[in-house]
Amino acid sequence: MGRLRRSRVHNARRDVHRAARTRARARDLDQIKIIDLDPKRRAELESQPLDFERPGLGQHYCVECAKYYETDAALNSHWRSKVHKRRCKQLKAEPYTIEESERAAGLGREDRRPLRVPAVMQNVVASVET
Ligand SMILES: [Zn+2]
Repeated sequence: MGRLRRSRVHNARRDVHRAARTRARARDLDQIKIIDLDPKRRAELESQPLDFERPGLGQHYCVECAKYYETDAALNSHWRSKVHKRRCKQLKAEPYTIEESERAAGLGREDRRPLRVPAVMQNVVASVET
């Protein structure tokens, strides 16, 4: 028997159960995209007052990842990291909305325009309706 797949199965999220705890809950991607990435809010987050409860007194914050860092060097190396770049890519995607879920369930339409029937199909529709 050959070797079972053990390579290339490692990813950065190892401690899934600890990360899923309510007290460790981080901000969601749609919260970050809609609220935090607004320029005014971003400036507010990047210049927070001294907070002794937070790592690095709350002075080194990455807005995209909603995460505090101890030092400026740590934050700078984080900005160059794979985790941060992946996060930026995820933030570029459209956030999941209620409309999208309704479309997936077949409740909504792709667009808000009224349904148009091609001219060739008009008589077919008429014959079905009568
Ligand atoms: Zn980041």
